[in-house]
Amino acid sequence: MKQYRNYINGEWRESARRFDDHNPVDGSVVAQVHEADRQAVDDAIRAGHAAITGDWGRTSPTERAALLNRIADEIDRRQADFLEAEMADTGKPFSMASTIDIPRGAANFRAFADLIKTTPLECFQTDLPNGAKALNYTVRKPLGVVGIISPWNLPLLLFTWKVAPALACGNAVVAKPSEETPGTATLLAEVMETVGLPPGVFNLVHGFGPNSAGEFITSHPDIDAITFTGESRTGTAIMHAAAEGVKPISFELGGKNAAIIFADCDFDRMLDGMMRAIFLNAGQVCLCSERVYVERPIYEKFCEALTQRVRDLRLGWPNDNDTQMGPLISAEHREKVLSYFQLAREEGARFLAGGGVPEFGDDRDNGYWVEPTVIADLSDNARCLTEEVFGPICHVAPFDTEAEVIARANNTRYGLAATTWTSNLDRAHRVSAAMNVGLSWVNSWFLRDLRTPFGGAGLSGIGREGGTHSLNFYSELTNVCIQLDPEPKT
Ligand code: NAD
Repeated sequence: MKQYRNYINGEWRESARRFDDHNPVDGSVVAQVHEADRQAVDDAIRAGHAAITGDWGRTSPTERAALLNRIADEIDRRQADFLEAEMADTGKPFSMASTIDIPRGAANFRAFADLIKTTPLECFQTDLPNGAKALNYTVRKPLGVVGIISPWNLPLLLFTWKVAPALACGNAVVAKPSEETPGTATLLAEVMETVGLPPGVFNLVHGFGPNSAGEFITSHPDIDAITFTGESRTGTAIMHAAAEGVKPISFELGGKNAAIIFADCDFDRMLDGMMRAIFLNAGQVCLCSERVYVERPIYEKFCEALTQRVRDLRLGWPNDNDTQMGPLISAEHREKVLSYFQLAREEGARFLAGGGVPEFGDDRDNGYWVEPTVIADLSDNARCLTEEVFGPICHVAPFDTEAEVIARANNTRYGLAATTWTSNLDRAHRVSAAMNVGLSWVNSWFLRDLRTPFGGAGLSGIGREGGTHSLNFYSELTNVCIQLDPEPKT
């Protein structure tokens, strides 16, 4: 049986407590995971501080950029291993893991290698009344040891999205992947060892949240900052823990994202885009559209076309070229999603497609599958339209005016993402800017330039990551101010 160990101070560490890592496709056990205890987390944080006061703390951005590029190259070289681990942990199709998850893992390191070398520091000259000047410039310094807690839905992508900028800025990290997806993070620790990252700079600990490695990191007095991606409720718990030491936090949390489809859109392009926006990764992407508003003249046409496409979706083994959708991550998460299918019935929804559990007649019947599902006819304040489900489900509703749909789309406590489909340029600008979200797409979805800000408003998060926004979170800026007196008169 494969063993996923902790990586602390450049050494692999076993634990007495272990838990099983399951393949969601058929429920089989993939590996045993060594759960880090309080002592292990403590050792990891101490190792991080030692690294920063040692040689790592004296590295230049150019040296760190070179290391980050080597990490990216090594991820590329071991792409097959990463793909295997990612598919075993999540059950997601090869088509997705090979085009999104693993390449983005490497791309995150390259993007921040470039940025740390090229991002200018601020410099201002102040002119004083007596003719003297003051030269101000910023110095970028690491925060210290950063605690990184990440979720299971895009495991390598989201883990490296935090590790890469943290290392680029010269921090050490103690990072915990989700208990559901320990595989690729363990491979990343192997990569760190291979490229010769100094001991203590990257520490990996496995475990759960409360009363386990997650809480041990976030409540540790010597952790200097916390970056977290996961559920909004978990964000509340972590915020409590971080409050004690007034720790900087960066939160990427849940969403209840709206899609707005105008009758003048390119229908076929929109339909392809919306199939991705609703069902990519079985709807387990924080950016997925769970609320779909369609302008009335094309509402019936859209419902029919979407329903047909959903019926044709191929659910299958990750390695099958034909597979378009995989299972949910765990038995527990499937219970949650099925409870929302049931709630939708109780709230009076009409099911246009799905609503149950598929039967395969093979080992997949032991996995954590649900049918891709489309519902309609709920009122805007139904719980199914206000709470994040995080599964392959959307609700479709007609609208009549632009003002009406903007108000309905914004009627949520979340504020992560929106997508608008129209061929009217003025409307595209008006509606996309009116969305109270961090990411507003037009005629597209999940299109990312890693230099742009990423994050959400309201329950969807605090702060922005991406580009210089990440660099600013993962570093402390010191302003140096030097007074330059005027030349003395002779
Ligand atoms: P989760 O909050 O259950 O777990 C995320 C991580 O937090 C895991 O590593 C978990 O072990 C840890 N954790 C749980 N409780 C903790 C605690 N009390 N203290 C410290 N750590 C704790 O989330 P999940 O189920 O893994 O992921 C799904 C959620 O993540 C969804 O809500 C989704 O929208 C959100 N998400 C957001 C983004 C974004 O960028 N905004 C991206 C992906 C996922």
